[in-house]
Amino acid sequence: MKPKGSKNSFTAEVINEMSLKLPSLSVNEGMARAAVAAFCAQLDPEATELADIKCAVSEAVTNCIVHGYRNTIGIIYITVKLCREGIVRIDIRDKGCGIEDVKQARQPLYTTDAENERSGMGFTVMESFCDKVRVYSACGRGTTVTLFKRLRGR
Ligand code: ATP
Ligand code: MG
Repeated sequence: MKPKGSKNSFTAEVINEMSLKLPSLSVNEGMARAAVAAFCAQLDPEATELADIKCAVSEAVTNCIVHGYRNTIGIIYITVKLCREGIVRIDIRDKGCGIEDVKQARQPLYTTDAENERSGMGFTVMESFCDKVRVYSACGRGTTVTLFKRLRGR
């Protein structure tokens, strides 16, 4: 078992945090992405790391808008925790429809929205740009996606 706070556990002490809540209007996707990036910038990440974070946040927030709250407007809750060892933890939560089968939803190319030309690659993108992605969901109650990114050279 890994000791708490070890290099791979993503449980290092929080040194700064922020939270944000936004209505699920598509215009707010860019705002969420920019706000998270601006907050993370204080850890002095590399440009590519910041771009990775923005991309992953964009996918998760878009999912809240187009799937979680499909055809309705609800609140998207975002928290960002900056931790020791250069670990960034971002929670993106909606109280929308939820995901019936998370394992299936995370498969590359799986989408329930092919008619709108979605490619089913959002979770795959999040996974490739982050060190760890956690998804909790309950049908009819909502979804929480947690993105962990360890900034190199920290
Ligand atoms: P793309 O992201 O490539 O445009 P996509 O959104 O369908 O397509 P993913 O982001 O990988 O692909 O999500 C896969 C599926 O998981 C979605 O089609 C949807 O059924 C479900 N899903 C993802 N996020 C949520 C959410 N927040 N609430 C409800 N369902 C979700
Ligand atoms: Mg998506």
